[in-house]
Amino acid sequence: MEEKHDKWEVFSPATGEKIAELKPTPLSSIPDVYTKSRHSFQSWSKLSVSERLRYLRQLRLLMVEKMDEIAEAISKDTGKVKIEALVADIMPTIDAIKHIEKHAIKSLSGKKVATPLMLVGKKSYIEYMPRGIVLVISPWNYPLQLAMVPILNALAAGNTVIAKPSEVTPLVGVCMENLFVEAGFPKDTIQFAHGGKELGAALTQQKPDYIFFTGSVRTGKMIGEVAAKQLIPTTLELGGKDPMIVFRDANLERAANAALWGAFTNSGQVCMSVERVYVERPVFREFLELLKEKTKAMRQGTHLKDDIGSMTFPAQVDIVAAHLEDALEKGAILEAGIRPKDWKKGETHFIAPTILSNVDHSMKILNEETFGPVLPIVPFDSEEEVVFLANESDYGLNSSVWTNDKEKARRIASQLVTGAVTINDVLVTVANHHLPFGGTKQSGIGRYHGEQGLKIFCHEKAIMIDNGRKNTEIQWYPYDGKYTSFLSLFQNYFSGKTNWISFSKDYLKLIKLSKMKRKD
Ligand code: NAD
Repeated sequence: MEEKHDKWEVFSPATGEKIAELKPTPLSSIPDVYTKSRHSFQSWSKLSVSERLRYLRQLRLLMVEKMDEIAEAISKDTGKVKIEALVADIMPTIDAIKHIEKHAIKSLSGKKVATPLMLVGKKSYIEYMPRGIVLVISPWNYPLQLAMVPILNALAAGNTVIAKPSEVTPLVGVCMENLFVEAGFPKDTIQFAHGGKELGAALTQQKPDYIFFTGSVRTGKMIGEVAAKQLIPTTLELGGKDPMIVFRDANLERAANAALWGAFTNSGQVCMSVERVYVERPVFREFLELLKEKTKAMRQGTHLKDDIGSMTFPAQVDIVAAHLEDALEKGAILEAGIRPKDWKKGETHFIAPTILSNVDHSMKILNEETFGPVLPIVPFDSEEEVVFLANESDYGLNSSVWTNDKEKARRIASQLVTGAVTINDVLVTVANHHLPFGGTKQSGIGRYHGEQGLKIFCHEKAIMIDNGRKNTEIQWYPYDGKYTSFLSLFQNYFSGKTNWISFSKDYLKLIKLSKMKRKD
């Protein structure tokens, strides 16, 4: 990708060919984009949830019809194999729409809640009110899903949206924009701004009512800072360094297949990639041999028969190389893959699936997010040790535990400081829209998917109703003479053995005192 003033050339990361020429959104248009969004909010927010869902349904049907075309655009733009575009980017997006269609009305309708006895005669409920303009800034690794899921939740909740997809995968940005137009969404309810960091930063300066950001920790912190200055609420979905823990009693064949897929799918460019594997020492060698044998059988390319595509972002290739060199210099053993200094330099960005042993926590490969097809493998001796090592990270997005002992699995899962844990599986929690998604520590702030997915885009408003017939309340003025009655009322009520006769007496006395006129 090359961004020039008004000409933006897009190159395929897999073939090096020029695949498009686009026009970036000018910075000068941002105030106008916001004005249009505010204007459009007036009508979009007034539609009922079911009216808004009709548009989402149209979009779902359109996406089903154009599934192959969308997969093609994603694959071209990212260099990933088409099956990964279909299974891990398009399917979860369509499934998210289905989930919203099914649950939005219930999740967003007002909810009656109990009113305590002390507030007798009143009614309470909670209302969900759209926030206004939601700014969605998204990354390049799953360029459809990671933009669409927050966009669709925000829209269903009645907000208007300004989306800034990643400049690394601009064709998917244009593809999403076209889908919304074709699905017939009212003008300006969703607007796309195409461009890079500068555009993203400028968009955050315009005081959106909410920022939903998915991307690196570095950018997340910058956005968090801007948002804090304006007190703009945010969700930050950031990076990971996810551990996989394999005990000796696990189904090793399944665990090895999962480790491979968890580490190498999308060329390892997954926030929840398996980035480090800890294997109980007695089965360490056996597990490593299984991994090596299976890695040899993998096919790299961009055809339908291939398993692993190219890297998407050239700059990420350099980070992967740096992590590998750092580990190899410190004594790591290359069990599979090619040493970076022997990589072919060129216009394409394929990295062979790589396995490293003899690694430790002094190396970047076990500490920093690598975001490439690299699997470092470490032996461990005890539960305590492995829980310590797994948690020995600034990140906390996802993790997995592999054992046939259900109790042990749950015990370990409860101790892992991560937003999600899978037992005898990898990555899969993200595919269940009933589960919350998000990270701990530097992996982010906030959760989405599930009910939160819609509710974060709403002001949660507390409403209480009084029938308005009484002229006064016991806690209102005048206070004269009320203190001892309140004291007796509260001590009696909260004692756990309430005497209801004295409760009524105190209460009636307070009512009487409230109606009295001051004489002095
Ligand atoms: P990035 O932070 O470089 O960019 C993400 C987006 O932010 C892009 O659209 C970019 O243009 C924009 N941006 C950059 N600087 C900005 C600024 N100052 N102000 C506003 N916008 C700005 O991340 P990336 O390289 O696109 O994505 C990879 C990262 O995303 C990895 O760290 C990965 O783990 C993380 N990620 C997290 C999740 C999750 O759900 N937790 C999912 C996918 C990817």
